[in-house]
Amino acid sequence: GPAPESQKEAQAWLDQRGRKFGLFIDNAWTEAGETFASTNPADGKELAQLTQATAEDVDRAVQAARRAQPAWAALGGPARARIMYAIARLMQKHARLFAVLETLDNGKTIRETRDADLPLVARHFYHHAGWAQLLDEEFPGHRAVGVVGQIVPWNFPLLMLAWKIAPALAAGNTIVFKPAEFTPLTALLFAEICVQAGVPAGVVNIVTGDGRTGEAIVKHEGIDKLAFTGSTEVGRLIREATAGSGKKLSLELGGKSPYIVFEDADIDAAVEGLVDSIWFNQGQVCCAGSRLLVQESVEERFLKKLKARMDNLRLGSPLDKSMDIGALVDPIQRQRIHGLVEAARAEGCEIYQPSACEIPAEGSWFPPTLITGASTSAAVAQAEIFGPVLVAMSFRTPAEAVQLANNTVYGLAACVWSENISLALDVAPQIKAGVVWINTANQFDAACGFGGYKESGYGREGGREGMFEYLVPVSEDARPALPAV
Ligand code: NAD
Repeated sequence: GPAPESQKEAQAWLDQRGRKFGLFIDNAWTEAGETFASTNPADGKELAQLTQATAEDVDRAVQAARRAQPAWAALGGPARARIMYAIARLMQKHARLFAVLETLDNGKTIRETRDADLPLVARHFYHHAGWAQLLDEEFPGHRAVGVVGQIVPWNFPLLMLAWKIAPALAAGNTIVFKPAEFTPLTALLFAEICVQAGVPAGVVNIVTGDGRTGEAIVKHEGIDKLAFTGSTEVGRLIREATAGSGKKLSLELGGKSPYIVFEDADIDAAVEGLVDSIWFNQGQVCCAGSRLLVQESVEERFLKKLKARMDNLRLGSPLDKSMDIGALVDPIQRQRIHGLVEAARAEGCEIYQPSACEIPAEGSWFPPTLITGASTSAAVAQAEIFGPVLVAMSFRTPAEAVQLANNTVYGLAACVWSENISLALDVAPQIKAGVVWINTANQFDAACGFGGYKESGYGREGGREGMFEYLVPVSEDARPALPAV
């Protein structure tokens, strides 16, 4: 596993506050109020007590952000860039500590937090520091939106934080940020990094709590923009709650992404890509390739290879760097996933799980699972499972592949595998998805806009498009009032 020093450092970091955390408002820690526990899903043990922020707490955070915003914007892009480069460097310096803490809190493997989450987080701050530096040249006639409320889920706690906070800071906004109640720890460590990097008081405020804290942020009149990543269900509530409020809104919601394998694909590479696509982070990924669509002529060969590969996946202690599959974030998720798989079994689907996969006695775990024989309208074929469960179907023609791929309320991502590049390039734009990967999966870059169509939400994160989410044209202020009728 990770060096014992990083593990000791993580324990020491938790202990220094007696494993009890207040809120981070105006660059100061509040006394812990009413608290809730965050547990390690790999063993079910409590890690720390966190404060459930009330509407009054949220109000204090918003007031701090409002006071800080004009000066933060007036500081100018280059000066903000210097602070953001310092954040990026500090994230790299403490990457091991962050990775261990994230693994403890979320249950994802250390290999992923160390090799994927943390490098992408640092890259996001470096990239957006660049935008801050070039703001006036690149976005003339634009200004910061003001105070932004940001709410994220538990599947990539720190990466979603970076996706939200980096562009907001670059553009000159101030922030009230809420991590998910299952995974609040790395956001609190990030608060300390902000202080070290010289972020002025009130610019980044971090409030912990569940959906009630989220609601208080959504409803607060001092928030000019909301950025939400999470379930389609809560996204809909937020859309309703903010209708007519004048708040700018971006939503990154669920997915049920197709993974299309044509008969002329490099089958071994496609199997490997699929392992990454559906079993990365235990399938708790919004853009997970959760629907395999494989051409009939290669279906048998592909599934045989896939099952053999599944048999080799190692599930176990997330801090052990040889593990492929970690713990699910919470026993409630395990129960929900189990229910969906058992419903499919009752409907006559075939369920494949590696027989040698041993599930630890403690914690919340689910084995890699393949479902075949589901109808296109079955719950497992339509609902976002958000777990390590793949549903496989076959198709005959490219047209049928496109039709199946688009047979979903979601539109976040898709993969197309074919050695015939003109076929791949013909199919890709016919799929209604925010990102289509060809002969690869899960490629992310801070320079590239990410987001969905349909029930997967709207707005983009990353790159130039992502920056526009945190800016408004200055002319909006100058626009004359509408004449009375
Ligand atoms: P969730 O919607 O339950 O929770 C997300 C966040 O919203 C949490 O911080 C939660 O406390 C908060 N929240 C809950 N109720 C709220 C309310 N009424 N008002 C305001 N905030 C509220 O989602 P989850 O289960 O934590 O995350 C999984 C979902 O996130 C999946 O659907 C997944 O696809 C989606 N996701 C999407 C993307 C993307 O970029 N499109 C990325 C990651 C995850």
